[in-house]
Amino acid sequence: MNRGTVARIDPIALQHNLHTIKQQAPHSRVWAVVKADGYGHGAIACATALSHPEAIVCPDGFAVATLQEAKSLRLAGITQPILMLEGAASVHEVQQAAELALTLMIHQAHQIDWLDSLGSEQQIAVLVKVDTGMHRLGIAPDNVTTIVNQLSSLPQVASLGITSHFACSDDQTHPMNHRQIALFSTCAPEIQPRSLANSAAIWNFPDSQLDWIRPGIALYGASPVAGKSAAALNLLPVMTLTAPIIAERWVETGEPVGYACTWRASRRTRVATLAIGYADGYPRHAPSGTPIWICGDIAPLIGRVSMDMITIDVTDIPEATVDCHAELWGKHLPVDEVAATIGTISYELLTRVSPRVPRL
Ligand SMILES: *Cc1c(COP(=O)(O)O)cnc(C)c1O
Repeated sequence: MNRGTVARIDPIALQHNLHTIKQQAPHSRVWAVVKADGYGHGAIACATALSHPEAIVCPDGFAVATLQEAKSLRLAGITQPILMLEGAASVHEVQQAAELALTLMIHQAHQIDWLDSLGSEQQIAVLVKVDTGMHRLGIAPDNVTTIVNQLSSLPQVASLGITSHFACSDDQTHPMNHRQIALFSTCAPEIQPRSLANSAAIWNFPDSQLDWIRPGIALYGASPVAGKSAAALNLLPVMTLTAPIIAERWVETGEPVGYACTWRASRRTRVATLAIGYADGYPRHAPSGTPIWICGDIAPLIGRVSMDMITIDVTDIPEATVDCHAELWGKHLPVDEVAATIGTISYELLTRVSPRVPRL
């Protein structure tokens, strides 16, 4: 029996979010990004829900970071195109990618040599990744024509597209965005399909939607746009993370709570202890005051986050007693609000929920 700490995953919300995204980018095909185990939601469950025959909308493909992630989707019966965003790490990975009918990102010249190792009957779809300014991954713009020509002449290349990635798309005012859009448009303009936009760019820079969009975080119902809530963008939370109260006590004024006695009661305080801690992925650096939803109210986190437990102040919420379930983020408490208080982003909170927490 699990101790009652669970992450509920709502497939209807996931489908709703894809629908919202497609309304926002009606002329683009969609790579649904399910890397990092579907941003912590379970990649197989999410891909299965999104490709359900009765789903109102379906993505045109799925994007993952690694070969392992792609393989587990294929083993689970996912038949749509699967894009490996980081590309192959070895000649062996290229061969496996071809066998699994994956789409490969080409971001380094030496990855082209690996394509040569495929048998003459083997072919693979590739996308050339261009470094338009983020300087993390991609071919330098000056070399794109050479790379495209090389790839076009290879019999192993089944199809060829071109892509790049934004550095600052969540910030609509950042000058980098228009620089990247303009530079990308000059790189092998004859090559299609073209793909540039992640979640934030779908809203902030509609002229970057092009042939394929690559939404990740928006699918999971967190806001990709700085200063705008997910609700305002018609996105619904997919993960709701809850934990039960396992103990309660009164502590007198002046008494400390938790490791290192970082918090002390400024009044007589009723303390509830929840069965979730940093080993479950709740961040240890969450400060006292971080909001936690319980019984229709918000209680502040008090004291240090322990490995398996946290403590909250429920003095003003008398209904919050042992066995009540608190929500760390989800339907009642947007993950973006929690992330802002903690000084991180929703991506990190969602992807860090540990395997100890069952996904229901
Ligand atoms: C992760 C990733 C995405 C998705 O980004 P979101 O901000 O979550 O929408 C898109 N493209 C690439 C190359 C990525 O690595």
